[in-house]
Amino acid sequence: MPRQGVPAGPGEPDWAAAVAAVRGLGPESRVLLICHVNPDGDALGSMLGFGLALRRLGVRQLQATFPGPPEVPEPLRWLPGLELLVPATEAYPDPELVVCFDAASESRLGELAGRLAEPGPVLVLDHHASNTGFGDVQLVAPAAAATSVVVEELLARLDIALDAEIAACLYVALTTDTGSFRFDATTPAVHQLAARLLATGIRPGDISRQVFDTRPFGAVRLFGEVLGRARLEPPAAAGHGLVWTYATQDDLARHDQRPYVLEALIDSVRCTAEADVACVLKQVGPAQWAVSLRSKGAVDVSRVAAALGGGGHRFAAGFTGSGDADAVVDRIRAELDSALVTS
Ligand code: 5GP
Ligand code: MN
Repeated sequence: MPRQGVPAGPGEPDWAAAVAAVRGLGPESRVLLICHVNPDGDALGSMLGFGLALRRLGVRQLQATFPGPPEVPEPLRWLPGLELLVPATEAYPDPELVVCFDAASESRLGELAGRLAEPGPVLVLDHHASNTGFGDVQLVAPAAAATSVVVEELLARLDIALDAEIAACLYVALTTDTGSFRFDATTPAVHQLAARLLATGIRPGDISRQVFDTRPFGAVRLFGEVLGRARLEPPAAAGHGLVWTYATQDDLARHDQRPYVLEALIDSVRCTAEADVACVLKQVGPAQWAVSLRSKGAVDVSRVAAALGGGGHRFAAGFTGSGDADAVVDRIRAELDSALVTS
């Protein structure tokens, strides 16, 4: 059952409008693909997989980009289609079509948000229940496990066959957002999609090792230090418990690591049995933290994140917090009780 207030997902007119927008492209049409800041496997995999598919359709003037530093996390630096990427500053000034991936709101598009005002239509592919409804054609499916699920359905409606390159991108996206098929969003349809992707010949063992199970030794040592300072607060969230830790820019520098290595940290923290809610604060500026929140179900962390200026899903959400780490955690603690799931 969809939760109250959650949009049902794209209807036939939305799919038809999206198909028409793509079918209307000629070989010289300029197409700009964009995704959210600090892109993860779903954002990049969905965007590049769709880009490769457009290239198969004969679209030649194709760029993909995201806001912020044009740095692709090392575990994703082998994805097919990376050659489509350009820095945000070099993106076409006048695209005929903009396609946006995995971004719930315009604020997630940083300096690219202005691109939504281009004369060409903006097609939005997403799966966040909190999607604000920006853009001209919305393919937003809150029940979908990943944005790549939406991408694959659009490709099917466009009669574009999956090949191994497109499939590798979509498989990375699907495994990233389902926690390698561990989360409840992993429906039979998700496994059926995985089967179609694997049928192209991609190698799931190689892909998973590169994306999830490879990190520099410095990152292993950094994780040891940051996990060593984790704090458990059993009374938080009305007794459901909070576990949290933080990593500073100085921690990264001491271990000679790039910020992306911290993305996996929340998975080591959230396994804490005694806490429903897990939190990692990643320093992104002198008094600024990118905050990751995870829940096992007692708390809807998207409500906590939304109250503090961010967003996300019920079990995984985030926001940017200002001040020192203790002050940010104080604000989270204060929101937890009002985000308890009652039904
Ligand atoms: P992560 O903790 O992996 O960075 O993000 C988990 C989820 O929270 C993602 O699905 C993402 O949509 C959402 N999220 C993370 N950071 C932010 C943020 O600053 N603003 C919003 N609106 N959503 C965020
Ligand atoms: Mn996603």
